[in-house]
Amino acid sequence: MICVDLHVHTNASSDGSINPKLLVDKLYAHPIVKGVAITDHNTLDGYFQVRKLAAAYKDLLIIPGVEVATREGDLILLGVEEKPAYMSPLETVVDFAKERGAVIVIPHPFRVSGIGNAAETIPADAVEIMNQWATPQQNKLAEQLAKARNLPGVAGSDAHKLEALFTIYTEVDAEPDVASILDAVRKGRVRAVSTRHI
Ligand SMILES: [Zn+2]
Repeated sequence: MICVDLHVHTNASSDGSINPKLLVDKLYAHPIVKGVAITDHNTLDGYFQVRKLAAAYKDLLIIPGVEVATREGDLILLGVEEKPAYMSPLETVVDFAKERGAVIVIPHPFRVSGIGNAAETIPADAVEIMNQWATPQQNKLAEQLAKARNLPGVAGSDAHKLEALFTIYTEVDAEPDVASILDAVRKGRVRAVSTRHI
């Protein structure tokens, strides 16, 4: 069992302030969470920095990812090291992801920046059912959607500041490597965990 924060922003996101070095230090020091997906807004620059810094430590799992702004709202792709064009139609981003074998996660579908009703039908591998910036009602709707679509429910802190890191994460039944974690997410061997009241 590995605990992974599947939704994290660095200061490569225009609205993020987390320094990649401090992120790696905090991950290394954390008693439970040992992996992180870097999901900056429309860039992989933060991921590449974090991966480079984390290489100096043993046993830290850094998952490539990107939170893509589509015309319909945000979509997270995991397991890719490239990004689609900014504000592409959702359908184009799904095609982009499928061509590259990415794991498609629907983040906070019912927040303003989420994809809303499109979440009911678009091809996806998982739904983010806990997000600390969503209201309890929005998280509940996301959980119901995951159940209705029979999709795995995952969670991430969606941290943009250092103190928010790892407050929400996903327990993954996987081997300690990125490919195994992504495979487990697809297969639903996951459990969303919150350390705070949401
Ligand atoms: Zn985010």
